[in-house]
Amino acid sequence: MTPKILLVEDDPQIRRLLRVTLPPEGFTLLEAENGESGVAQNAEHNPDVIILDLGLPDIDGIEVVRRVREKSATPILVLSARGQDQDKVNALDAGADDYLTKPFSMPELLARIRVALRHAARTAGETAESVLTVGEIQIDQVRRVVTVGGHELALTANEYLILLVLVRQAGKVITHRQMMKEIWGPNNIMETHYLRVFMAQLRRKLEKDPARPRYLITEPGVGYRLKVD
Ligand code: CA
Repeated sequence: MTPKILLVEDDPQIRRLLRVTLPPEGFTLLEAENGESGVAQNAEHNPDVIILDLGLPDIDGIEVVRRVREKSATPILVLSARGQDQDKVNALDAGADDYLTKPFSMPELLARIRVALRHAARTAGETAESVLTVGEIQIDQVRRVVTVGGHELALTANEYLILLVLVRQAGKVITHRQMMKEIWGPNNIMETHYLRVFMAQLRRKLEKDPARPRYLITEPGVGYRLKVD
């Protein structure tokens, strides 16, 4: 079974580009030229990943995210133009999984598709492993112990929770709002700068070179991502 990718995009050049590049990589490509068709094709074909352009001729891409999320957990990878920063944050908060800024490279897109597929497979398996491993990082969720390359880190409760959220969704971007909701609940009154402070502390403890982090990547204006490769 080859993974099915649904591309919702009105730009014929991007559709043509994916039509020639995705099938040789082992993906089946479905195409929708507008949002309504995208929502309908998702319901009909149940794709493995949706690639969604935010600027569509009929309904807003964010509206497409909302409608897809009412019915399915299909990973959604958003394509946004430069300058659409708030749109992509809104799309992520509405339930999209990741984003790419146009123009993007094919290797970038393929890497993001693979992260989305891996994550979906893990969510479906729902094994609730007690020990999570990403690269040299290990989190023992039962003992709440974090090690990097075998060395135990002394983390505060907030640092531990931030790392846990990122490791559980390794490779995926987590928005500031999502992170704060996961850690302090939906009614939190914390501000984003607290998150930056905790993240800086966590980097100092976890990264060999905190100025050039290997794992804890900042996505400017959006949030954070734990790098997997
Ligand atoms: Ca467009």
